[in-house]
Amino acid sequence: MRQNEAQDDVLVPLMENLLDSFEPLHRLSGSEEAERAVDILIEQLHVMGLSPVRHRCPLWLSDPLMGSLVLPDVPAWQGQAKTRSFSASRPEGVEGPLFYDVRCLQAIPDLEVSAWETSVRGKIVIADQGFEDYVQRLNRAGALGLVHIWGSAEQALHEETVGPIWGTPVPDDQPLYPTIPVISVNHQQGQLLLEILRQHSDPIMAVLRTELNEHVADCSLPVVDIPGEIDEFVLLSCHYDSWHEGMTDNATGNALCLAAAAHFHRLQPQLKRGLRIAWWPGHSNARYGGSTWFADRYRRILQQQCVAHINVDSPGCLGASEVVVNASGAENLLFLNRAIRKITGKDARRIAPLGKGGDQSFWNCGIPLHFAFREEPETRTSQSPGSGGGWWWHTEADTRDKVDSALLWRDCQIHLHWLSELLTETALPVDPIACLIQMQEELDNLKLSLDPRFDLTSLRETLVAIEQQIRALEGVWTEEREQSIKVAVGLWHRVRYSSTDDFHYDRSYHGGAYPGLQILRGYQQATTSPHAFLMATTQFYRQRDRAIFLLQQSQALLR
Ligand SMILES: [Zn+2]
Repeated sequence: MRQNEAQDDVLVPLMENLLDSFEPLHRLSGSEEAERAVDILIEQLHVMGLSPVRHRCPLWLSDPLMGSLVLPDVPAWQGQAKTRSFSASRPEGVEGPLFYDVRCLQAIPDLEVSAWETSVRGKIVIADQGFEDYVQRLNRAGALGLVHIWGSAEQALHEETVGPIWGTPVPDDQPLYPTIPVISVNHQQGQLLLEILRQHSDPIMAVLRTELNEHVADCSLPVVDIPGEIDEFVLLSCHYDSWHEGMTDNATGNALCLAAAAHFHRLQPQLKRGLRIAWWPGHSNARYGGSTWFADRYRRILQQQCVAHINVDSPGCLGASEVVVNASGAENLLFLNRAIRKITGKDARRIAPLGKGGDQSFWNCGIPLHFAFREEPETRTSQSPGSGGGWWWHTEADTRDKVDSALLWRDCQIHLHWLSELLTETALPVDPIACLIQMQEELDNLKLSLDPRFDLTSLRETLVAIEQQIRALEGVWTEEREQSIKVAVGLWHRVRYSSTDDFHYDRSYHGGAYPGLQILRGYQQATTSPHAFLMATTQFYRQRDRAIFLLQQSQALLR
């Protein structure tokens, strides 16, 4: 079986060469350097004897150029700032008093919202968070702008986004884009700013400026197909656009996918299923615009033929010794851990549900398996959610010295093992019972924070009935039944990870299990106006019945 093993003498240099070529390129989508990176990828794939396709997708891009905060009455303040992708561009600046929102991390009951809105209206708000939904709330309240203080101690300023729309917007989405400017300062400078506020009893005036380049550009989306014996395929994906050099986010992921192309091209005669590899544009400055474009244009093929989506983002990071998996919940845990144990000698530190992000644009395409490798240091010191928890994530310091080549090879081999099973084994590693049990547990958790009028009993009973139905089928597997399970799991993912129909996307900030029902957490009748509670109740009936409808479809399939 030596022939099937990963050839480190071929794949390691292949990955290192790609890192060398990507290092000088700042690959923000829409830039010439991003397109140059695609030229290099395509050339490499051709050299291997593959025939990649270079799709071109027009994307709506928001590139941060400049952010600043000036305090005219406190000239000693000289803080550095960065703006956020999809912040409003206000090069002329907005001027107003600073206000520290101590409640920014709290859920504000509906009856107190009006007082909170009055407190931030007409202010440049300083806050310990800068998430999209908070920006939406500030925008509605009439705040002038937001200064987000980064939560961990690193000096570096991170790039980020406040884009509320998943992928490219449709006309109805347009009013949701922030009309207020947003910037971020680092933790130390944020504390200085708060100290200045404490020392002055009078309001401190500030001028907040942002400049962004908002534009439509054609961006390349390269895809390579390594067909198998049957039509089914596994989608392996990674974003090739980056902030600055982006060596660990995500040149290492691009290199890993290139290595996977070389490896499975060599083994192609043995493949039962095909491998399709996509390198996405628009992850950073178009809010997953590339993967969303692909879902929009290839939905039917994805629905009919794609059995798994593995997203690769930021492998091979310095210090990221610990392996974590984010998975949809339908994956057999033995399958996920088998590859990790084979390479590292132990199981994943954690297998957790997939969060919102990472080009997870395919929940409504009926794909049964979705997972993504993650890694982290033994102990976290930064709030960075990417680059293996490294402080350099989304900064100019995400340079070659942050790549650990040995860890990249570890991570590459883990992916090759996963793929090898998916591409050659007849049965897919689907665990429908585990998936249903997780869905019941998540529903029970959600119930604890909902008003009792939002009764989830019928939804839970439907989940239990499906679990019993599957248990009764155990031991009588047929190929036809396996197909039904795949379709059923795809329906369950729509319930668990989405709140909309197959052709739309949830807001970028609506996450958690049952996102359409999660929204109800903020509505307890005792602290909610009749108007708001009526809206919440309407949301409840629509979302509960949507979920039951989809689950009943899966029951019919499994009969
Ligand atoms: Zn990334």
